[in-house]
Parts: sequence; structure tokens; C-alpha cells
Amino acid sequence: AKADGRGQFRFFSPEQDASARARRALEADLRLAIERGEIALAYQPIVATATGQITSVEALARWSHPVHGPIPPDLFVSLAEESGLIHALGALVLRRACADATNFAVDVRVAVNLSPLQFQGGALCEQVRAILAETGLDPHRLQLEVTEGLVIRDVEATFHELNRLRAQGIHIHLDDFGVGYSSLGYFQRFRFDTVKIDKSFVDTIATSASARAIIGAVVGLGGALGMKVVAEGVEEAAQMELLVALGCTHLQGYLFSRPVSAEAVRALLAQPAAP
Ligand code: C2E
Ligand code: CA
Ligand code: CA
Ligand code: CA
Repeated sequence: AKADGRGQFRFFSPEQDASARARRALEADLRLAIERGEIALAYQPIVATATGQITSVEALARWSHPVHGPIPPDLFVSLAEESGLIHALGALVLRRACADATNFAVDVRVAVNLSPLQFQGGALCEQVRAILAETGLDPHRLQLEVTEGLVIRDVEATFHELNRLRAQGIHIHLDDFGVGYSSLGYFQRFRFDTVKIDKSFVDTIATSASARAIIGAVVGLGGALGMKVVAEGVEEAAQMELLVALGCTHLQGYLFSRPVSAEAVRALLAQPAAP
């Protein structure tokens, strides 16, 4: 705290004050956007390198603010997490992704990102079950992406909830692997279906021997534990070649497709695989 000109104490500088106000205003707009269903989903393909086929698409939330335009998902998701809106946002995303996926080719799965906070309250499994019933999506076609941060709070409760989801036939992905507080012990407690190697390793794959060693080790771990390994953020053909050489079987990134609308991804899925 510091004294301002009138001898009062302020806890924030004027700049911090203004940015806190802007955040609160954005939060109010986000609340409205969620209520009105004005959050869109973009879908990004995950491609099997052996066949060139799209095996799955990841749903990514999009919010275009009426004044400020597109807001980065990292920003509005964290805003939703801070304000408790994450439950409404998470439900909206899940419901829409499941509904959209019923219109995609039947052999394609849809991956939905979950915030660790959606595990709090213990009602996630019931919510997912209800949304699957409501939309008619086969549970085997749903994949849920969780991050390492998930496991920090209540380890037992989290693995219990993950097991309940998995018992329904839903696949569980460990997202952004390698950048959080990972513990290899988690793999002993829970068998993730897929591990997603974070983009930061892919970014440096051409120049960093340690990035290549880490990716190779994760591929080996995945093979040994029966987990699929996906590399994300693949932008260049040279990165793809190195990843394939390291044994990565599934890739995601701008090289294949940016995240696109549900209609556009349906059109992509209808095309034959590239030779
Ligand atoms: P994420 O789950 O790691 O998603 C992958 C991000 O990488 C997406 O960013 C995607 O557009 C971007 N990306 C994919 N391929 C490439 C590439 O080749 N190059 C580059 N530069 N970027 C690539 P996006 O859509 O901005 O989302 C950012 C993050 O926001 C996501 O990271 C996820 O953590 C979060 N997020 C997005 N949608 C949701 C959601 O519905 N729920 C939750 N809880 N989080 C979400
Ligand atoms: Ca993800
Ligand atoms: Ca990721
Ligand atoms: Ca990420």
C-alpha cells in the first residue's frame, strides 16, 4: 500500500486499478456471453502419421468480444477460473462439442479441454454422463484433456473421478506434458490413454538435442505403458520428419490445419486422407 496525495492509502497503483477494473468489466461481458451461448468452438485435427487420416479433433473455445474482438482463450479461461464462471463455460463447451461430434464421421473422436476446477464439487462425472445422454454421443468418441496441474490438489479424489470417467469408455489425455509439475508416479496411479507432448519441445526439436531426447523418452514411456503419444504445435515439415523419426504416431499443428469451424472440419473429414 502507498499513500496517495490526499493522505489515503491505496492498495493499487492507478494503472493496477484500471487493469483490475478492465478485468472486472471483461468478466461481466464473459458472463453475458456464456449466458447467451456466444462462445464458439473451433476444431483442430489430430493426424495419424502412418495413414494421414484424422483420428480426432480438439475443440477449442473462441470468444469474440463485441468491442475488443477475439479474446485469447488462455485469457478468458483464466478469467472464468478466477470468477467461478468456469463451470458454466465448461458445461457449454462440453455440450456443444458432443453435439457437433454427432455430425462428424463416426470413427473420429472429439477432445475437450477440462479445467482442474471442473473436478471440484464431484459432479463432473454425472454432468458428462448427462450431456452424453442428451446429445446421443457414444462415450468412446469423447476424449477429455487434463493438465498436470489437475493432480496437485486432491490426488485421491482426482484419480477416483478420472477412473469413473474412464469406466464410461471416455478417453483421458494428459495435456501439455513436460511443462508442469509432472510426476512419473502419476503413470503408476492412472493409465492415461494419451500423452500430449507440449509445443515447447516441438518448437526446439530441430535445434535442441535435449528436446529430441525428451520426446524420444516420452515416446518410449508411452509405448511401454500403452499410451498413445501426440505431439502438438507442429508447424514445419522438418519438425514432422523429426517427430516421425522419433516414433511419434499422432501429430497436431498448423502444418496440418489450424483450428477451424465445425462445418469446415466436417468438410475436412469428408476428404480422403492425403497420400
Ligand atoms: P491447449 O489445450 O494446449 O491447446 C492447443 C493450443 O495450441 C491452441 O491454442 C491451438 O490453437 C494452438 N496450436 C495448435 N497448433 C499450433 C501450431 O502449430 N502453432 C501454434 N503457434 N499454435 C498452435 P488456443 O486455441 O489459443 O488455446 C489456448 C489454450 O486455452 C489451450 O491450450 C487450453 O489450455 C485453453 N483452452 C482453449 N479452449 C478451452 C476450453 O474449452 N476449456 C478449457 N478449460 N481450456 C481451453
Ligand atoms: Ca488441449
Ligand atoms: Ca496442449
Ligand atoms: Ca497449452
